[in-house]
Amino acid sequence: MTRKQIVILGGGTGGTMAANRLRRRFHADEAEIHVVDRDDRHVYQPGLLFVPFGLAHVEEVVRPRRRQLRDGVVFHEREVDSIVLDRDEVLLHDGTVLPYDVLVVASGVRLQPEETEGLTGPGWNERMFTFYSPQGAVLLNEALERFEGGRLVVNLVDMPIKCPVAPLEFVFLADWYLRERRIRSKTELVYATPLDGAFTKPIASEHLAGLLAEKEIELVTEFNAGEVDGVGGTLGSYDGRELGFDLLVTIPLHGGAAYVGRSPGLGDALGFVPTDKQTLQTPVKPNVFALGDATDLPTSKAGSVTHFEAEVLVENIARYLADEELDAAYDGHANCFIETGFHKALLIDFNYETEPLPGRFPSAFGLPLLRQSRLNHVGKLMFQWIYWHALLPGREIPGIGPTMPMRGKKAIPIDV
Ligand SMILES: Cc1cc2nc3c(=O)[nH]c(=O)nc-3n(C[C@H](O)[C@H](O)[C@H](O)COP(=O)(O)OP(=O)(O)OC[C@H]3O[C@@H](n4cnc5c(N)ncnc54)[C@H](O)[C@@H]3O)c2cc1C
Repeated sequence: MTRKQIVILGGGTGGTMAANRLRRRFHADEAEIHVVDRDDRHVYQPGLLFVPFGLAHVEEVVRPRRRQLRDGVVFHEREVDSIVLDRDEVLLHDGTVLPYDVLVVASGVRLQPEETEGLTGPGWNERMFTFYSPQGAVLLNEALERFEGGRLVVNLVDMPIKCPVAPLEFVFLADWYLRERRIRSKTELVYATPLDGAFTKPIASEHLAGLLAEKEIELVTEFNAGEVDGVGGTLGSYDGRELGFDLLVTIPLHGGAAYVGRSPGLGDALGFVPTDKQTLQTPVKPNVFALGDATDLPTSKAGSVTHFEAEVLVENIARYLADEELDAAYDGHANCFIETGFHKALLIDFNYETEPLPGRFPSAFGLPLLRQSRLNHVGKLMFQWIYWHALLPGREIPGIGPTMPMRGKKAIPIDV
């Protein structure tokens, strides 16, 4: 095989895993692997959840991107400008042109708070915050330290969002934090969502709604936020409802990277890239693959999903380059720890077809599913180490892969 050029857009979770796995898969004389990212700060995003509560510092969750990439991967610290699909070329902002034989889109999502009227106006980062960015998480930490009670509203503006359980985890931890500070009785906690329940999947949703009620957190459903008044402290929905707040924690609208919109034929109206749900090849062109938050796949936008996808994507790039049939191996497998406060967490595991079920993961002797436990909390905390030392370098984790395991699961959901 002549030496192929593989260009990966984005050096976050998916881009780094894909690059490292590809580097292990191909000899240097078989493939040149390039990763493009606009900066050299790789953020372990699940860690951002803990920053507002002073349980982690931002510096602890950020590492240089270059150092996460195996020797032999070429890193370009540049902004992607656009893709010229007919010429198989990536244009970078500084005018550099990167030709490719295979392109991997791993550029994640773009937060768009400016799309909600009033959100980035007066009061932004003063009484209205998001913990979905490192800077926002730090500012929210300062605001929570100053908070002495009142009405705290957590709102996700619209789906899809990355890590759909993170806003719930935030509100559970807020309940814990306010109790620790003995100001919970002076605080009304509200969780406002555009969904018709606490979560997207009915069984988990019922369970999580029960937890919200237990913790006296008001659940407001089908709330499609349309505008915010940061001076008066109100969040309005399109159907005319209004929620007052002293502190608003928003998960802003998500879209694909801006360059996707500037690259004719690459993305959909929201800037996400249409992707085959089992092979991760895109219908855009056979040599264009995508993974992670950048895709339009009907599963959660999550690091676990990105990890499972990376395994299938790398196998299929190898097959594509060898002119072999692609492997339709990805089944939508996703799993998420859900922090519930007081040093406990839930774990859910599901795929395109199967709802989160009770039982244990990844086998009958594993972590409890759909049940709060200290073991799951320890699992969530340990995950950061696993992320940097096993997942990003592309090491295999026995028993955990792109196909959802049914061992240990109870087929009929009981005691949920
Ligand atoms: C608060 C929070 C908590 C989370 N908790 C969990 C959790 O507990 N479990 C879980 O599984 N997932 C969790 N996630 C989600 C997880 O972090 C993401 O799903 C995962 O990082 C997606 O990987 P990705 O490679 O698709 O995108 P990213 O890791 O975001 O990487 C995309 C990269 O593309 C780069 N990029 C974009 N546009 C350009 C451009 N034009 N030029 C150059 N570079 C560009 C960006 O700089 C970025 O580095 C959480 C996310 C957040 C925000």
